[in-house]
Amino acid sequence: MAPCDRKLDELDARYIWHPFTRPGGGSKPLLIASGAGAVLRTADGREIIDAISSWWVNLFGHAQPEIAAAIARQASELEQVIFAGYTHEPAIRLAESLCAIAPKNLQKVFFSDDGSTAIEVALKLAWQYWQINGEPDRQRIIVFEGGYHGDTIGAMSAGVSSGFFEAWRQQLVPCDVMPWPATWDGDTAVEGREKEALDQLDQFLSRHGQHTAAMIVEPLVQGASGMRFVRPGFIAEATRRIRQTGALVIFDEIMTGFGRTGTCFALEQTGGVPDLLCLSKGLTGGFLPMSVTLVDDRVYEAFHGDDSRVLFSHGHSYTANPLGCAAALASLKLLQQESTVEAWRRIEEGHRAGMKSLDGLPGVSRRRIRGTIAALDLAADDSGYHSAIGQRLGRWFRERHQQPRSALLRPLGNVVYLLPPYCITDDELAFVYEELAAGIRAVQQ
Ligand SMILES: *Cc1c(COP(=O)(O)O)cnc(C)c1O
Repeated sequence: MAPCDRKLDELDARYIWHPFTRPGGGSKPLLIASGAGAVLRTADGREIIDAISSWWVNLFGHAQPEIAAAIARQASELEQVIFAGYTHEPAIRLAESLCAIAPKNLQKVFFSDDGSTAIEVALKLAWQYWQINGEPDRQRIIVFEGGYHGDTIGAMSAGVSSGFFEAWRQQLVPCDVMPWPATWDGDTAVEGREKEALDQLDQFLSRHGQHTAAMIVEPLVQGASGMRFVRPGFIAEATRRIRQTGALVIFDEIMTGFGRTGTCFALEQTGGVPDLLCLSKGLTGGFLPMSVTLVDDRVYEAFHGDDSRVLFSHGHSYTANPLGCAAALASLKLLQQESTVEAWRRIEEGHRAGMKSLDGLPGVSRRRIRGTIAALDLAADDSGYHSAIGQRLGRWFRERHQQPRSALLRPLGNVVYLLPPYCITDDELAFVYEELAAGIRAVQQ
């Protein structure tokens, strides 16, 4: 390690409190100096293949030149302007581009800063919508077991069952949690679980449907609670039932958006269109924090008028930041190249081969692939986010960073998953699977 790095390590320890990390607990954060493509580099040249897109944000690689250039250009034109009463071209062009790829009913864009705030916007809109519409008793929110929607109060409330928020249980808004019939490749009992889940939803709706403001769901894949897949038909059925009660449907595609599941949005596979669609993470290609809540015309129109009751009193300092918009426009341009769809197919193929290569490894179950996302469960005595085997494996992957080449993999409890940037090469992906196999072998001993 170069001397200047040691200094930075010390300063980091002295001044920084890292997210989801115990202060003073175990390993030091690894200092990353640069990135290119799927590769992150330390100052002394060690390479780390980023198999999780740096917390699911990166789409086209680190320091991707077109996006970097777009941000630089924008920064020398207009870095930021108040968005209440003022507007700018990057926001207008981005909103138009997003609406062009979104379902036809979603043609209004509300900007905010990150996934959590996009969720807060959706929840607050849903609650206020019913007040405006003369049904103030419609305030209940339906969520799913294991759903995760972010770390602010409203988002934590909707994600109450994800297991991350025990410390704040008393502070959360009550939500109604429905079962999530998770499935995997070769699962033969999913139909029964789906039926039970839908029966429970029906029972709930027959009692409380008229008091339900909205349902919020991660369509196809629940991310943070362990890459838990459902079949598309389940989302379609749940959505249909919610619609029959008149309640709003919120899709949280903050993780699944922009191609992760093999289509631009997961909703293209589920059928059933939401009234509110939350997007973030990949929106700027992983360069800048930004999010949007896309809003159905009917919801938007309810907020028309001069009455103060219909004012949506919400906005962030950096709403529609021009640099973020410029990054997002550049990223959308890359997304629309034919080679992007090819990359999704290629990665899915790579996952199939990689998962197959794990045949016979002890303790591996529930292998599952959807588009560019692959996951498996490890046998554990304890499951959940703090599972001992997941912690051991996480430590093993971090210790591997001492090698000239290693993989960035970060288990979610006893679940290991890959969610690579679309530029990952076949060789890099195969290498990640080799690392994964070696790690599993090491921790199973
Ligand atoms: C990450 C995530 C969020 C929260 O986004 P932040 O940018 O971390 O606030 C919400 N929903 C889903 C599905 C996510 O994966």
